[in-house]
Amino acid sequence: MENNLGPRSRKHQSKKTTLKWSTRHTVLLALVAIILTIFLFRVSRYFKQDVISVNQAYLYQKSDLDSQKTASLPQGSRITILSSRYHWYYIKTDDGHLGWIPDWYFSTDKQITVTSLKNATIVLDAGHGGRDSGALSSGEAEEKTYTLIYIKELARKLQARGAKVYLTRNKDEYISLAARPQLSNRVHADAFISIHFDSSPDANTASGVTTYYYSKKLSYSLAYNLSSQFSSLGLDNKGIDFGNFQVLRDNQRPAVLLEFGYINSDNDFAMIKSSKYRNAATNDIIKGLNNYFTAKADDESETK
Ligand SMILES: [Zn+2]
Repeated sequence: MENNLGPRSRKHQSKKTTLKWSTRHTVLLALVAIILTIFLFRVSRYFKQDVISVNQAYLYQKSDLDSQKTASLPQGSRITILSSRYHWYYIKTDDGHLGWIPDWYFSTDKQITVTSLKNATIVLDAGHGGRDSGALSSGEAEEKTYTLIYIKELARKLQARGAKVYLTRNKDEYISLAARPQLSNRVHADAFISIHFDSSPDANTASGVTTYYYSKKLSYSLAYNLSSQFSSLGLDNKGIDFGNFQVLRDNQRPAVLLEFGYINSDNDFAMIKSSKYRNAATNDIIKGLNNYFTAKADDESETK
């Protein structure tokens, strides 16, 4: 009997152990799988994240430097990019905050090349203002009045096409020359356009439209694309010229200054005052900008 019972109970025991062992094994495997999944998720998220490379970074409520800052991000913060607009990324921080940050918070490989007007940041500069009247017509109309009218019309048209527009002034006020390119640099404008009306030493001795640039490397293509459009305005298109103006010189962004006719030429001033000429001039700027960004898109696809 003993001989029979012995092996049977041993057999029974070993079956029990096998069962126990396989249950433990399953639990252990499940645990390993869970830990591995979490680990892989973390690793893949880590590699999908980007790192803030500037000293002082903020999370903004909107894709706009003037919108509310909702959090401060220390250098080296890891964030996940969800989408982009203009020079901005919509992101999620490691601790779950959502918001917008500008692309210049990252190293250069993350900086957005804008290849369409609808994604462009444009700074518009109405020449003169406030105590600085600019040049005068023979009837003493002031240049500053017309530069603002043109800039406002241009701003409306650009905004209708989706562009992000910043104005150096939106009313009759004095703005220093230094502050104008500063705005362009601060918002990383894709184009800075300053509008003026020319004046000759003697009235009624000059006429026509001139496009000025300062940096050939930065701004010649913009000047070229805009100026190419100005040939059916009804005033002589005097083409492109180098202009040593502070608003261009201090600009680190593509920048042009447009002289849309001579205010002290009675012929030009009659045009400048007319809504027909203003409409044509602002439409030409839009067309020129469209061509400029299209050319940039072509350059991009060639280098890729
Ligand atoms: Zn002027």
